[in-house]
Amino acid sequence: MNRRQFFLGSTLALASTSMPLSLRQLAVASPIQKPGPATPPIDCSALKPINAHGSRVTGVYACSRPFRHAGPRIETELLGHKVIVHNYGHGGAGWSLSWGSSMQAVRLALAASAGRNTLGVIGCGPLGLTSALLAQQAGLSVCIYAKELPPDVPSMGATGLWSPTSRFCAAQYGPAWTTRWEEMANFSFSHYQKTLGLPGRPVEWINGYKLSDTPFSSEVKPTPIKDPGEPEYAEFTNAFLPSQVDMPPGSHPFPAPYARGWTSLMFNIAPYANLLMTDFLAAGGQIKIQEFTDSNELLTLPEETLINATGYGAKVLFNDHSIIPVRGQTIHLMPQPDVDYGLRAKDFFIMPRRDGLLMQNMDERGSFNNSNDRPDHMDAQATVAQVAAFVAGMQCQPLQV
Ligand SMILES: Cc1cc2nc3c(=O)[nH]c(=O)nc-3n(C[C@H](O)[C@H](O)[C@H](O)COP(=O)(O)OP(=O)(O)OC[C@H]3O[C@@H](n4cnc5c(N)ncnc54)[C@H](O)[C@@H]3O)c2cc1C
Repeated sequence: MNRRQFFLGSTLALASTSMPLSLRQLAVASPIQKPGPATPPIDCSALKPINAHGSRVTGVYACSRPFRHAGPRIETELLGHKVIVHNYGHGGAGWSLSWGSSMQAVRLALAASAGRNTLGVIGCGPLGLTSALLAQQAGLSVCIYAKELPPDVPSMGATGLWSPTSRFCAAQYGPAWTTRWEEMANFSFSHYQKTLGLPGRPVEWINGYKLSDTPFSSEVKPTPIKDPGEPEYAEFTNAFLPSQVDMPPGSHPFPAPYARGWTSLMFNIAPYANLLMTDFLAAGGQIKIQEFTDSNELLTLPEETLINATGYGAKVLFNDHSIIPVRGQTIHLMPQPDVDYGLRAKDFFIMPRRDGLLMQNMDERGSFNNSNDRPDHMDAQATVAQVAAFVAGMQCQPLQV
């Protein structure tokens, strides 16, 4: 099977007579753009110090990863006379996989739309916005209905890292997903390369360092401390990133003996979400603020085909009790433009986001099946203090005042 056939697939072929060329081109023009495997050593001799202080915290955000053991729900359901295409339940991978997952959802919507050229999208997070944009590119007129818009959707609290395997599905469901996951990840990864270098840097490549007290070569993969009932997650081949590079003790400024350099994609979520919204509106998209308390209320909408991208909201709206909330919290500090590297230590994670330096406590015990979206400010302050103590031991270039 060649790549064209692979991407078009049988479902898309059904819709091909009514589908404008643009979606076809979009679906086939997604080659796997993997960077070369050899990463040159990352120069970390001139890292700028991180200013970690509680007074620099601008916000603490808690939200739920919408996890399903069986993986995201991307399928068609009939609701009365409407066709609903579901596109929710992406766990910790929703930003990363949004373009590819939405491509699969729009494909289903086109196949079911019988030539109608209007589409309703429920939800304005990453899955809703990318569904809407791809449908517009396929020639449809789209209206988004949502109770919240960026910057107030739950996804705005995410870390912003390319993490396409994160809590995607339980290990037992992994084999059934491999082909579709690869298609999603390839399509998304390829799309993000076209978003580089735009004003506000919505997406960029960053370097980062993973730190350890023991050599990585002798590292035995630690058994994560898990909540009762938390599954083993499926691992797919995330071969999109350059390989990591070990740095021997003494060759880096970190107060940990061992460091490993990595390179990854980062989403600066505020400018990136703004870009998605702006593109959608510029292409003639409409947005209506509306909350649905029952799926039957969708029957009153004018569009016959709807994409349901309500994330964790689908649990109540579609009575889908297979969605499990996996709580996470991110701490945003004032931006530090001179800090351009990420740090992953045992207890914390730092992302050099342009829309605010981001910190996260890596001990997520108690997060599985926890829908509490109230920020824990004590935990946030403790994490910032932990980072401050760590950074005090770094040998960095002094700040230019
Ligand atoms: C702490 C944390 C860190 C994360 N980090 C990353 C990361 O680094 N990389 C990554 O790829 N992913 C990450 N994720 C996962 C990612 O954020 C989710 O997978 C993603 O948010 C799902 O997006 P969504 O569009 O499905 O849902 P949402 O962003 O929740 O959007 C849902 C939309 O539906 C609307 N809606 C819901 N219910 C209703 C209703 N009844 N009526 C009307 N409208 C409704 C909402 O208002 C909203 O507009 C992280 C998640 C968390 C919690």
